[in-house]
Amino acid sequence: MNSKILDKIEIAQGDITRCDADAIVNAANTSLLGGGGVDGAIHRAAGPELLAECRTLGGCPTGEARITGGYHLVARYVIHTVGPVYSAKPKDKTLLTACYRNCLQLAIDNGIASIAFPAISCGVYRYPIKQACKIALDTAIEFMSAKAAIEKVIFMLFSEKNYRVYENYLQSLR
Ligand code: ADP
Repeated sequence: MNSKILDKIEIAQGDITRCDADAIVNAANTSLLGGGGVDGAIHRAAGPELLAECRTLGGCPTGEARITGGYHLVARYVIHTVGPVYSAKPKDKTLLTACYRNCLQLAIDNGIASIAFPAISCGVYRYPIKQACKIALDTAIEFMSAKAAIEKVIFMLFSEKNYRVYENYLQSLR
């Protein structure tokens, strides 16, 4: 494994709304009009201006991503993506991979050098954390190997358990 790519990846535990990356990723739903979990936390921290901008976007299909301002967040941008509801079918992996890829591509398109991801789909959408972690890291590594513009990808895990899953998987790649 190319250690230069792995050095661009940071695993952290905490609240993504406090992250000082250029962009934070929101695990949204297709309406983009807010919800619970990390979505609710991001909207509370960003302020009502975020919802106002989201209303202009007309929603987002599962697997795709949309970008808005970050308003009262430290991050300048929020990249909203809609993960799959886990169904134990092959399409889950295709869609979750597309979420990570589309977020990273939007970051490049907008000159974003650092981006922080939550564990997309691993809350109410019930994606098993080990499978989701592998998709998240493998996709980020593959993407950064092909395109050099992104300097830092942070995976911000809310729980210690999920943090350990990501840490262990990253270690296994070194
Ligand atoms: P989904 O609907 O995609 O499953 P959720 O918001 O329910 O999204 O959960 C996604 C992940 O985000 C879960 O692992 C949850 O613990 C985590 N999470 C919730 N709040 C925060 C936060 N403030 N910062 C980072 N991660 C969070």
